Amino acid sequence: MNQDIMSRYVSDAGLALSMVRCSSVCKEIGQDQHGLRGSALRCVAEAVCNALLLSTRMKGRGLLSWSVSGSGAIPQLRVDAIGLGQVRAMIAADFHEAVEQWDGLGEPFGPGRLSVSRQIEGQDQPYTSRLEVESGSPDSYSRFLLRQSDQVQGNIWSDVLLNDEGEIESVVAFYLEFLPGNHADTEADSVARIRGQHLIYDEFDVQNIASYASNEDIIAALFSGAQPFQKLRDYPVSFYCPCTRERYRDTLSGFSTEELEKLTEDRCIHVVCDFCRKRYDIALSELEGEVS
Ligand SMILES: [Zn+2]
Repeated sequence: MNQDIMSRYVSDAGLALSMVRCSSVCKEIGQDQHGLRGSALRCVAEAVCNALLLSTRMKGRGLLSWSVSGSGAIPQLRVDAIGLGQVRAMIAADFHEAVEQWDGLGEPFGPGRLSVSRQIEGQDQPYTSRLEVESGSPDSYSRFLLRQSDQVQGNIWSDVLLNDEGEIESVVAFYLEFLPGNHADTEADSVARIRGQHLIYDEFDVQNIASYASNEDIIAALFSGAQPFQKLRDYPVSFYCPCTRERYRDTLSGFSTEELEKLTEDRCIHVVCDFCRKRYDIALSELEGEVS
């Protein structure tokens, strides 16, 4: 059963908190679709958390693409968070086998480049941030983005727990942001504020958050029992890829007969979606009469 959920909270002290529990979707995307285990699976799960959480801070519904390319063990990874809670991940086909076999040694991505683009529904152009990154994990890259590019007082943590086989046991992550402006200053708020600043500025080491039973337990542990947060909303989290047979057929219809024949030996074209790894077999006879 899929119990994946993302929740947003806010406090009178001016802190915005988003939390996501997404073990099922990380298993589905990382293990089932991309066949990963161990360190590579951990990196993909962390990037999935990052994209989902960063999408909660967009100024409107839309698509957030979190991608990194570099000279590390995973030369290219992209995660799309669509709306609030839908997600998919892509590892470029050329590198897929090497990523599956990565032993976890060395840098996962860097040195390289992080790009985060945000396309809000109804707006023509996406807003894209590009940053040169050195070593690190998706979390550390997203923190760098928050500081360098977004210039918000925010921080992000993911806790991906793997079992002895290197498979997903549990995935919990959260994002905390200090909202600008004046805020009420009750005692509980002060605690939250101080704690929030500590969490944001000092790279406070948050460990074992996946072991907490509920979001409320995590909040209590992080904010010394002050529990100053009100829940705004829950969002179900699920995998989504918009690819269809028709889309691939339409794309292939734009090729000439000669070009199509070069792509196949058995008069059938086999395409695999880079995101969900679904395979589509499209016979040349289906395209005949449509090709130019
Ligand atoms: Zn797909």
